[in-house]
Amino acid sequence: MSAASDLARDEHIVAHLRRTEPRAIHHGWDDLHMVGQTDRRDAIRIYARLGLHPIIVHGLRADGECTCGRPACAARGKHPVLRAWQTMPLDVAALDAMLISEWRYSVGLRMGAQPSGMHLVCLDVDGPRDLLTPLEAEHGALPPTLTARTGRGGQHLIYQIDPALAPRNRVRLAPGVDVRAEGGMIVAAPSRHASGNRYEWLAVRQPEVLR
Ligand SMILES: [Zn+2]
Repeated sequence: MSAASDLARDEHIVAHLRRTEPRAIHHGWDDLHMVGQTDRRDAIRIYARLGLHPIIVHGLRADGECTCGRPACAARGKHPVLRAWQTMPLDVAALDAMLISEWRYSVGLRMGAQPSGMHLVCLDVDGPRDLLTPLEAEHGALPPTLTARTGRGGQHLIYQIDPALAPRNRVRLAPGVDVRAEGGMIVAAPSRHASGNRYEWLAVRQPEVLR
């Protein structure tokens, strides 16, 4: 077979996977309802099963300090443990071993390209959903999507996006609204925030496509 026909075949397979994958993984999203009642080890398995990319994030010690051990950590309980977290392939067994070694570690989700092939962005709303009102007035209403309540009382709205349109990580869209994209992450349920509150899923469904 020629290289050209190999390429055509590969493209056909990829196109087929793109068509079938979202439907194939759709059935599992209800599993996120369980994350609030499970421990972190189960949570990373549920996330991985959904085709997401869980990572291990520093947690909080009983004295309120970050497990990274820096006394003045500016991101207590919300920064990744491993330096190569942005590029490491997903290895659930390795994440599990980390959680066994340090039970106070928390769980995060990498944004951008996912093992399922989806590209995700998170609108990180640092307060009530009203902070999105100016954006919606300008660009139209944001469709309902996979949504979490953050430990600080804000919201994480997670969308699928065409990677060609994907914004850079940490773009400030509006006051109190940041984008977490490729190279970014969010802390996720059942992690606990420095305030004592847990992150939890509010609306459980496959991330909607943002156009
Ligand atoms: Zn820290």
